[in-house]
Amino acid sequence: MTKKTPILYLIVPCYNEEQVLPDSAERLKDKMQTLIANKKIADNSRILFVDDGSEDKTYQIITDLHNSNPLFAGVKLSHNRGQQNAQMAGLSIAREVADATITIDADLQDDINAIDKMLDEYVNGAEIVYGVRSTRKKDTIFKRMTAHAFYKLMIKMGVDIVYDHSEFRLMSKTAVDALFEYQERNLFIRGVVPQLGFKTAKVTYPRAERKAGKTKYSASKLLSIALNGIASCSTKPLSMIWWTGFWLNLLSLAGLITTIILMFTIKLHFIWPILCTIAWSASLILLALGIIGFYLGKTYVETKHRPHYIIEEVLN
Ligand code: UDP
Ligand code: MG
Repeated sequence: MTKKTPILYLIVPCYNEEQVLPDSAERLKDKMQTLIANKKIADNSRILFVDDGSEDKTYQIITDLHNSNPLFAGVKLSHNRGQQNAQMAGLSIAREVADATITIDADLQDDINAIDKMLDEYVNGAEIVYGVRSTRKKDTIFKRMTAHAFYKLMIKMGVDIVYDHSEFRLMSKTAVDALFEYQERNLFIRGVVPQLGFKTAKVTYPRAERKAGKTKYSASKLLSIALNGIASCSTKPLSMIWWTGFWLNLLSLAGLITTIILMFTIKLHFIWPILCTIAWSASLILLALGIIGFYLGKTYVETKHRPHYIIEEVLN
């Protein structure tokens, strides 16, 4: 493997990106040609567009780009499967040939000049380099707020996620191979990559606005991604059932004892101990559900067949 002048594959998932793709392709081509000229990457590096079942002219544009210059490669998915699957499809092809891969959105909201710094980190030994947004001033207030709520919710729910990092990331072949050891269907890439380990680095850049076309993520789609991400990387919601039951149990039991005493001393209405008994019964149901949740969580983790460990190096 050549760390100095790696074969680099840029992986660009595209869903209905006809409006932005010609301009993005031009900018990516310039960037790659400069990197090749400066011997920062090998000349058989590629820009790999993954058409995620677009309904517009996206694939036609990719085909034309490929015919015009071998630097452009393309792959077409038969159906829209979402950004993550498109990324995995691109990575599966790239890992056959590339030493390093960088995933980047087609609208180039992430700064392509950060690629240079990513490559420097890679040459210095990092297997994974995260692109982290230093500012989101160009995003709408709504996008900024929902995105930050998304990261906070994920972290609270126990998902190991890099704050303000999306899908702009460099991964070496070693890291990509390790990612493919995770064979689960509900793969949340951003939640799994930090679990791979290896030497990692971060590069920061300001996030630009989308030049053309529309975002593919509505608020409801973003919420469903967050819920899927939590469900695929954390069993915390299940343990929350147990803890709710636990505290409700203590509270209602204390309430029951207190209200019984007060019923006999200050003649408190008998409805209060009855209410506390109802709350106590509910807490017992929650505790029982929590115990089931505990086993369900264990079973869920087992069904994922995640690797027990990833070997980084063997000295022999
Ligand atoms: N994308 C995709 N499949 C989808 C939705 C989005 O491949 O089903 C791609 C899209 O073409 C873009 C990237 O994912 O390259 C990010 O989408 P977008 O820029 O709309 O997201 P935002 O920046 O608004 O979060
Ligand atoms: Mg975008």
